[in-house]
Amino acid sequence: MTQDTKLMVWIDQDLCTGDGICEEIAPDVFVGRDDGLWVVKEEDKHFGRTIVFDGEEGEGHGPEGARGLARVPDNLIEDTIEAAEECPGECIMIEPYDGTMVA
Ligand code: SF4
Repeated sequence: MTQDTKLMVWIDQDLCTGDGICEEIAPDVFVGRDDGLWVVKEEDKHFGRTIVFDGEEGEGHGPEGARGLARVPDNLIEDTIEAAEECPGECIMIEPYDGTMVA
């Protein structure tokens, strides 16, 4: 079920240290990529379909970096902010949701 969204999140992969702390805190928002860097995602259980913003082509994928903004489920806002605060690379960027659908 799609829900209201207040925030979006993206990761600057150039600064990611690959420790995975973000996924430990919010596994529905962050996921490790094959190259050892972390990316953001939208989960089916929150938004009706899963999109991983890993820069891959095709269904279920979206752009990485600043172009790959994932909506944050309302019930995971606190966890997402905590992940950004704990991120050693300081590369988790949180922005107000601008009302656009993604991917
Ligand atoms: S917490 Fe930050 S540095 Fe660590 S994997 Fe996640 S995005 Fe990368």
